Amino acid sequence: MTVGIVGAGQLGRMMALAGYPLGLDFLFLDPAEQPPAAQLAPVLKSAFTNDDALGTLAGRCEVVTIDWENISVEALRKLGRETRVSPPLRAIATAQDRVREKRLFEKLAITTTRWRAVSSRRQLDSAIADIGLPGVLKTRRMGYDGKGQAVLRTAADVDRGWTLLGQVPLLYEELVPFDLEVSVIGVRGRSGESQVYPLNHNVHSGGILRLTRAPYGNARLNRLARQHVLAVMEHFRYVGVLTIEFFVRGGRLVANEMAPRVHNSGHWTIEGAVTSQFENHLRAILGLPLGDARAKGYSAMINLIGAMPGRAALLRHPGVHLHDYAKEPRPGRKLGHLTVVEDDAGRCERQARRLLAELAPEIHIP
Ligand code: AMP
Repeated sequence: MTVGIVGAGQLGRMMALAGYPLGLDFLFLDPAEQPPAAQLAPVLKSAFTNDDALGTLAGRCEVVTIDWENISVEALRKLGRETRVSPPLRAIATAQDRVREKRLFEKLAITTTRWRAVSSRRQLDSAIADIGLPGVLKTRRMGYDGKGQAVLRTAADVDRGWTLLGQVPLLYEELVPFDLEVSVIGVRGRSGESQVYPLNHNVHSGGILRLTRAPYGNARLNRLARQHVLAVMEHFRYVGVLTIEFFVRGGRLVANEMAPRVHNSGHWTIEGAVTSQFENHLRAILGLPLGDARAKGYSAMINLIGAMPGRAALLRHPGVHLHDYAKEPRPGRKLGHLTVVEDDAGRCERQARRLLAELAPEIHIP
């Protein structure tokens, strides 16, 4: 059985690594010269929108999935009904557009930020009059890792933000003075069965995820996040893994955004959960029974960003699991990650702090 994956980045690579023990094969489609998944499986080198290449992928695979959500839904739609594309295109289209995402959260009674769609300077002024400063101006589409965003605190920021981003449709929302950030990862199978992983506590710096700790939070917060991810998955009759990111403020969850895919905050599940997010995504899209999403202990995942430390220096720490994505170093680029799993929460925390102090002493860890 061959799984087709549009996008051959590290997420696709980790899907393949999870799928080989199940006896699966993989075929990727990606325009890059030497993408991370190319070490593991053949890649059709093509633009994501090339109908011929997508047709070849669909023709050679039982099911087609994605490792990046900003692909062309139109191009995937042309593949027609015979090819199973998972997750559903409606979910991908919603996750591509911050305004559709906000409307969905509101429809499903999931608390989100106060927001306004903005497509002219006049609309920005009126959004600021309604919502106030400070706020965040974001592009409606194609934003990730804090790109396409500007925090507006003063009138001068408003001018600068508009000059920077005003060429494309935008969204303005309140700046949430959050206590911390969490994410929930759920998976739903073809027959409607589902599993939800425990909450992840995520620490960002410069808009990029640096550290995830899991499981996080009390039973009430986990129950609430679980209800939310199940509601979104039911809404789309979703198949595959889905992630929702939240701000936590005063013990309440405020939804920030969703991703229709496996997520960086779920990388710890490779070693730290009974079944990893990558394996469960494959099980879901192939109509196989889902695996248990429970945590095996306490995990911490640290992203390796910009430059790759020496392999031996990292592996010197007992219990460290290293994942090197085989990418060219570039400032701000995710090149790999480390995971530690411990039976004891305190030991896991000490280990994570020791590693972070060595790798990224500039990061403030709450
Ligand atoms: P996003 O691309 O929307 O996930 O934003 C990246 C990061 O920027 C988030 O994880 C937050 O740390 C921060 N951020 C985004 N939107 C807001 C907001 N409305 N209030 C406070 N922080 C935000």
